[in-house]
Amino acid sequence: MRVLVTGANRGIGAAIASRLSAEGHTVWGTHRGAAVPDGVRGVECDVTDDESVDRAFKLVETEDGPVEAVIANAGITEDGLVMRMSTAQFGRVIDTNLTGVFRVVQRATRNMLKQRAGRIVIIGSASGLSGMPGQVNYTAAKAGVVGIARSLARELGSRGITANVIAPGFTETDMAETVSAKMVETALSHIPLGRFGTPEEIAAAAAFLLSPDAGYITGTVINVDGGIGMGH
Ligand code: NDP
Repeated sequence: MRVLVTGANRGIGAAIASRLSAEGHTVWGTHRGAAVPDGVRGVECDVTDDESVDRAFKLVETEDGPVEAVIANAGITEDGLVMRMSTAQFGRVIDTNLTGVFRVVQRATRNMLKQRAGRIVIIGSASGLSGMPGQVNYTAAKAGVVGIARSLARELGSRGITANVIAPGFTETDMAETVSAKMVETALSHIPLGRFGTPEEIAAAAAFLLSPDAGYITGTVINVDGGIGMGH
């Protein structure tokens, strides 16, 4: 499949792009000026900008062909206790992690609808299901993407398009580095498997959702979180 992965220059996005490329998919990875992994074709894209998203899709379409699967992975954190969180701080995270996902998946559906086929995978978060102190902005966005996936699943299922969410728990990337030592200790004590996940473990779930074996899976949330998010 021809796949576009957002935020493919590092972390979970880079691992997903590498894994999909190793499995034989044609992978385009978005970046904001940094290199993407070997075997992945880079395209610049800022998910907070409608025109940038459209330009990225147009470039892939012109140079290669229509995007058949999309992994909406790009995301940020800007944590803070609710009493001290500004509306702007709340809004920046929503604009990247929720509206950014909307921009990318909406643009992706244009071709998928024509082809009457497509796979949409959104990277959510276990904390979007359970909540997390200091993250009202982030968890609101991550809960929101579950709504996007489920609505897409219902709206586009008859056109052969699936839409699912992968909800990682704490995963060893730059993003997890921003978490305080105290929070890491608390988190580890709540993770049944007693460790953080690796980006490669998240990538394995993405590879599965793009495989023929996942053709009847839509509107679901797959937790890849060592068990911390179970029950939500
Ligand atoms: P990283 O911080 O390591 O990487 C984030 C990626 O998103 C980078 O490629 C970054 O680009 C890109 N990005 C951020 N903002 C934009 C934007 N406006 N436009 C385009 N690209 C952007 O994070 P992770 O790999 O850890 O996170 C990937 C996804 O997984 C996110 O959605 C995150 O919320 C989710 N997740 C992560 C968890 C974790 O513990 N790590 C847990 C649960 C979910 P650049 O390099 O240019 O900044």
